[in-house]
Amino acid sequence: MSQPARTTTVVVIGAGHSGLAMSRRLTERAIDHVVLERGQVAHSWRTQRWDSLRLLTPNWMTRLPGHQHEGDPDGYLAVGEVVDLIQGYADGAPVQTDTTVTAVRPSLDDFVVETSQGPWHAQAVVIAAGITTAPLPAVAQALPEAIESVTSLDYRNPTQLPEGGVLVVGAAASGIQLAEEIHRSGRPVTLATGEHVRVPRRYRDRDILWWLDASGVLDHRWDQVDDVVRARNLPSFQLVGGDRTLDLNVLQAQGIQVVGKLGGIRDGIAQFSGSLTNVLTMADLKLNRLLTTIDDFAGGRGERPEPTVVPRAPLLVDLRRAGIRSVVWATGIKPDFSWLELPVLDHKGALRHEGGVVDWPGLYVTGLPVLRRRRSTFIDGAAADTADLADHLVAHLGRVSV
Ligand SMILES: Cc1cc2nc3c(=O)[nH]c(=O)nc-3n(C[C@H](O)[C@H](O)[C@H](O)COP(=O)(O)OP(=O)(O)OC[C@H]3O[C@@H](n4cnc5c(N)ncnc54)[C@H](O)[C@@H]3O)c2cc1C
Repeated sequence: MSQPARTTTVVVIGAGHSGLAMSRRLTERAIDHVVLERGQVAHSWRTQRWDSLRLLTPNWMTRLPGHQHEGDPDGYLAVGEVVDLIQGYADGAPVQTDTTVTAVRPSLDDFVVETSQGPWHAQAVVIAAGITTAPLPAVAQALPEAIESVTSLDYRNPTQLPEGGVLVVGAAASGIQLAEEIHRSGRPVTLATGEHVRVPRRYRDRDILWWLDASGVLDHRWDQVDDVVRARNLPSFQLVGGDRTLDLNVLQAQGIQVVGKLGGIRDGIAQFSGSLTNVLTMADLKLNRLLTTIDDFAGGRGERPEPTVVPRAPLLVDLRRAGIRSVVWATGIKPDFSWLELPVLDHKGALRHEGGVVDWPGLYVTGLPVLRRRRSTFIDGAAADTADLADHLVAHLGRVSV
């Protein structure tokens, strides 16, 4: 039997840190709302992270509206601690768990939100559904059947992989961290490296994120950065939670083979791009540009990291002969908006929005990289982003209720 529709002013979709921060903002403004969550609070952190993950942002950046982490400000939270933090933060929020949103569509003068527990009507909807899919690149189709495949969202620990060599594809934060962990488990690792963003953990005796915060880089607004589409799609910083740098030089010193971007696989032979040297040069160039920004802010000049050197990178690898038994795809994650029944997606499936204000009155999104500022990429961005969006939403409600 179908359930009767319930009514609220705002439906927030997703009980990760973003949805819960938005819930706080709505409560502050006395706006009736519900947070619908398909699993449990912090579902992504419970089900889509590897066991050894630590935040790459230090604890002083783990701040949310009405919450500042109390532990060592320079520590880095383990994944279980992130779950506890978000679960605690949800205390008192109107969260309805085990409720999957299956469709959002416009009704006469509001939205209908279809869920696995019956429909809701709301005057505004905030999408805080996270970035929860890891689409495989086309090249994955040509992988020989005998080779196992796992994405960064499904990977938990090395015991999940067969014995033998592992090809890790992608050298952003996830790829470099997984390459190191898998190599430490005794499996030979080859790391396919496309465009990446190299940063040192520390510069001039401070955490790199401290500099980016203090110099105002994290506060660059989405409508002021040169190319916001590119900024939003850049790979994550090559960083790991902890007081050390993890880059391609470090990984090679440990014994990991770095190769170029995976371009194709034919008859079991993987083809890697010959432009690796250019890619490394570009990453070093951008790294130095960023450090120059910090020097301009601080005065003087810090000691720069050594350039990245990859002495020999094969262009062709016969996967079977090289003993590669599995591939870990760390090639990026994407949000899923397939349940949105509104004309708000562009031809690539990306949501059309201006700083989280979607191209449809009353619809908002939060928790995406560089949503309103560079800081939006991190948990730390939620406080300012949700304040801005809640203000916009209040103005919208004022207009529709007149
Ligand atoms: C590997 C990895 C490492 C990261 N490391 C850091 C870090 O070091 N520091 C940092 O600041 N940030 C880090 N991030 C987190 C990043 O900040 C967040 O992923 C991002 O900001 C999104 O947060 P969120 O609350 O919007 O989404 P999520 O935490 O993903 O929450 C979204 C929620 O929506 C729910 N949901 C999705 N679809 C539906 C639906 N249809 N119906 C109902 N519920 C739904 C999900 O179950 C989930 O609980 C990391 C992310 C990843 C993937």
